[in-house]
Amino acid sequence: MFVGHYAASLALKKFEKRASLGILFLGVQLVDIVFFPFVLLGIERINIIENYTASTHFQLEYMPYTHSLLASLLWAVAAYAIFRWVFVKRQSVALVVGLAVFSHWVLDLVVHTPDLPLWSDASVKLGFGLWNNAIATYVLEAVLLLGALWLYLKSTSASTTGGKYGMGVFVVFLLLVNIVNIFGPLGGDSKVALAASALSAYLVFAAIAFWLDRKRS
Ligand SMILES: [Zn+2]
Repeated sequence: MFVGHYAASLALKKFEKRASLGILFLGVQLVDIVFFPFVLLGIERINIIENYTASTHFQLEYMPYTHSLLASLLWAVAAYAIFRWVFVKRQSVALVVGLAVFSHWVLDLVVHTPDLPLWSDASVKLGFGLWNNAIATYVLEAVLLLGALWLYLKSTSASTTGGKYGMGVFVVFLLLVNIVNIFGPLGGDSKVALAASALSAYLVFAAIAFWLDRKRS
């Protein structure tokens, strides 16, 4: 799952307004943000295979340190601890950041083919496989994102034009990006290029979310 993860960021903002939406955007993708450098370092493995599923060109071969249930819980606890005792130092903010991090695994579970280990690569691997249906994958991510946008807009307010329409326009942009992501052809077989484009997308999207969120109160 790609842009659908941001549904968790927008929805969690409703429960703790003091959490930065930019941080929640980074939080929901944290395990992917770690995964790509791990791939380049040879710690985890992805194989680029054209049309491996109807929605992706990737076989996620080995990722126990980022995408196992156990690892996801540990990353979530680490994020909670950092926001509980180092930054912000507020329990409710730490809790939504931790939940944002863990939400990645839960949403990935729906779309991935069985490649999400429970604790180690040798353990049972899970994934309900919605990626095998590209349209269903797209619709699910769109419905999640639009539902969460509605929650976010209902629970925050804006007086400026940018504040009123900015986040809606951004979500439409994310939905357009996801058309290319799910239905687009394989861009190339370079893992460095894949990692660079994924990581820069995560950072740019988080920066935009941070900026637009500050226009609402
Ligand atoms: Zn992931």
